[in-house]
Amino acid sequence: MHVLLATSELNPYSKTGGLADMVSALARALAGTGLRVSVVTPLYRGMVHSNPSIEPTSWRWAIPMGDSLVEGRFHCHKPSPNLTLWFVEQAGFFDRPGLYGEVGRDYADNSARFIFLSRAALILARHLPDPPKVLHCHDWQTGLIPILARHARLQTGWAQPPRTIVTVHNLAFQGSFPTASWALTGLPSDWLHWESALHFERVNFLKAGLTQAQAITTVSPNYAQEILTPEYGCGLEGLLLKRYNDLGGILNGVDYEEWNSASDPALPAAFSAQDLSGKAVCKAALQREMGLPENPSVPLFANISRLTEQKGSALIIQTVGSLIAAGESLQFVQLGSGEPTLENAFRDLAQRFPDQVAARIGFDPGLSHRIEAGADFYLMPSRFEPCGLNQLYSLRYGAIPIVRATGGLQDSVIDPRDNAAQATGIKFTTYSAAALHKAVLKALALWKEPAWLKHIRHNGMTADFSWEKQSAEYVALYESVCRE
Ligand code: ADP
Repeated sequence: MHVLLATSELNPYSKTGGLADMVSALARALAGTGLRVSVVTPLYRGMVHSNPSIEPTSWRWAIPMGDSLVEGRFHCHKPSPNLTLWFVEQAGFFDRPGLYGEVGRDYADNSARFIFLSRAALILARHLPDPPKVLHCHDWQTGLIPILARHARLQTGWAQPPRTIVTVHNLAFQGSFPTASWALTGLPSDWLHWESALHFERVNFLKAGLTQAQAITTVSPNYAQEILTPEYGCGLEGLLLKRYNDLGGILNGVDYEEWNSASDPALPAAFSAQDLSGKAVCKAALQREMGLPENPSVPLFANISRLTEQKGSALIIQTVGSLIAAGESLQFVQLGSGEPTLENAFRDLAQRFPDQVAARIGFDPGLSHRIEAGADFYLMPSRFEPCGLNQLYSLRYGAIPIVRATGGLQDSVIDPRDNAAQATGIKFTTYSAAALHKAVLKALALWKEPAWLKHIRHNGMTADFSWEKQSAEYVALYESVCRE
């Protein structure tokens, strides 16, 4: 079977978050099972320069969008026999400093940019010599693909367009635009209505996907249940309830080639669950790198994320500040960027407690690996978390996760109260600084119990969240939508 994945981010070529990691790891894992896999994604600025293996093809085409004809071209890279990556060149749309915007503002023409990507994906699917049977769309940026495919079947004589699946990586981002943007889709105006893509007088790209795709998945089973409720459904819970029979959750996996502490080129020393001596070297090196006193006996906490309300950044600032002010012995390292007030609050915290807190504001994949390797505990107090990848990386790198029991965090971390023998981390329920504070106190108590700490850390480091396991569920889903 041939499957085409459509995505706006693909690690290591372009990344702002977990979407990039997930699609690239899934594609490789699927190709490893023998499936023929293609991926279509934008050719953003600098990608050809930093990846000379991406080659331009002579496949050029043009899409009528409103009054203009927008030209595009595919670039291609074939990293392995079963896997082909297709990059959509359209300099006006994608040769820009950011993926979605700059200095905290989205690009004004994001609707046009991702309509273009979605329509390019269909050109690819229609004209490849071995057309895909399944087109697997990821998030709102490719949410229009299912309705575009249906239109192509009904009105342009494409007898067998691929079956479509939409995976929701984060329901909070829906791609909502003024209705004028519908003209750029090339779809008839009467196809825009409440049962398709119209949502409160705006075009909603994700809703278009959720109403039209053959199947819907989210990135963890627990999140698939949560989004059926008003608390997590972001206004689409009614629609999702209607599609309950077509909705499922498949937990993301980890690319253990990239996240392998025994061979990670970003780390100053290698280590494994069997031999942790290198982790102590990583901790000392991280303390030096972040300008903190080098001290093996102080527990080192960390967080790496977009700085937003979703990720509980404000809870971390409050909790770490109050614990240190109360005289607790701990260190904390933050890597991230996002809302300016949160960036400044982390800078202030680091200034207030220079021997205990270090904050690096920015995006730095190498440092993110060194933090996971050097940290003893990892804080993830998310308000909601569709899957979350950093708790999975933390487990493998021996940074015990402290998580709010929501979404994929609930599915992937085991608290000692639930199962002492298999415990991998610490969980709390309420989204509040007080609850996180209590959980960190538990971690500090655990730090003083080396046998317990070793047991929990070992469980986490040996837990298996490999894509080999998870990708089998996607293969089963692809087969089932093709049978329908
Ligand atoms: P989300 O996709 O909601 O941002 P995830 O936990 O699913 O959250 O994935 C986030 C990914 O982005 C992880 O690979 C994480 O390490 C990475 N990441 C987030 N912020 C940074 C940063 N400032 N520097 C490096 N990597 C980061």
